[in-house]
Amino acid sequence: MLRLICFFALAVSFSDCTKAQRLIPQKKVIKLMGCGFELTAIAKTDTLAWEAINAGINEISRIEKLISSWDKNSQTSAINRAAGLEAVIVEKELFDLIYRAKKISKLTQGAFDISFASMDKIWKFDGSMKRMPSDKFVKAAAAKINWENIILNKDNHSVFLKEKGMKIGFGAIGKGYAANRALSIMKQMPIQGALVNASGDLISWGSNSKGNKWSVQIADPKDKNKSLAWLELKNMAVVTSGDYERFVKFDGKRYAHIIDPRTGYPTTGIKSVTVVCPDAEVADALATSVFVLGITKGLSLVNGLNGVECLIITDEDELLSSTNLNLNYY
Ligand code: AMP
Ligand code: MG
Repeated sequence: MLRLICFFALAVSFSDCTKAQRLIPQKKVIKLMGCGFELTAIAKTDTLAWEAINAGINEISRIEKLISSWDKNSQTSAINRAAGLEAVIVEKELFDLIYRAKKISKLTQGAFDISFASMDKIWKFDGSMKRMPSDKFVKAAAAKINWENIILNKDNHSVFLKEKGMKIGFGAIGKGYAANRALSIMKQMPIQGALVNASGDLISWGSNSKGNKWSVQIADPKDKNKSLAWLELKNMAVVTSGDYERFVKFDGKRYAHIIDPRTGYPTTGIKSVTVVCPDAEVADALATSVFVLGITKGLSLVNGLNGVECLIITDEDELLSSTNLNLNYY
């Protein structure tokens, strides 16, 4: 579950100092939503920086309680328990998140689908799977995936999963949403800059401790300790999909933890996808989508969207980028 490994892909640099300003950076690393979060605030005093960081942490904890499908007391679990039985009235915030997730499903022709979660009894990416599951089981569980069977009623904010056995999960969008929300709370406080990094899902605002733009390093896939390129960020999100620790290998083939909803099988061929755009939730959902769509369709989707760029690393360590991605190479 820990995705701290993604820190190697995106490590923040505080080194590019040109202007001298008395700004204090404070940083907190904390486990939330089952992964490592790093919250940084830049302020004129320690107290102001810590107040912003703590407000960001409270916001992420609040969202975790709402959207977790592991916590049986969450509204998401209530929706899953009622699959095929009845609609569940939920908070508008959760309703809206599901509405936006369905919009991404439509945009990606179902490559992104929060109802992928019916597969989570079949595929386990924690090292416990010893053999390939039977095709019959995979197909039966995959038949339950269908974002169009997530029925939303905006009049009473209810959510109904039409078929028994359906399940939703926010693994591919929740951290991006939480990072957005935490940053938006922190921004309202008297600070000069902030950065929220959810194990590689990162969003920045304002300036770093030197008063400059934030800078993000892209690691060399061949040597995770080396940086291959960097990019400057101003109020931007950079989200990486592709957890180098979460995969299964059968007959020498590597299966990533992202499921292709059309087949029920994990995707192959791509090691990681990084999406850059102003919104961490959109970047998170699109990074997962590009994984499923594959190189050609994925790049074509991103190239057709304004203000969105991406970088794909293939299983062969080949780097492919969208048309206008501005990477600075060393
Ligand atoms: P990410 O690291 O953002 O790409 O999210 C990966 C996680 O998203 C997985 O661990 C699953 O929880 C979930 N997921 C897997 N496949 C899909 C899919 N096709 N659509 C939406 N969520 C998915
Ligand atoms: Mg994602």
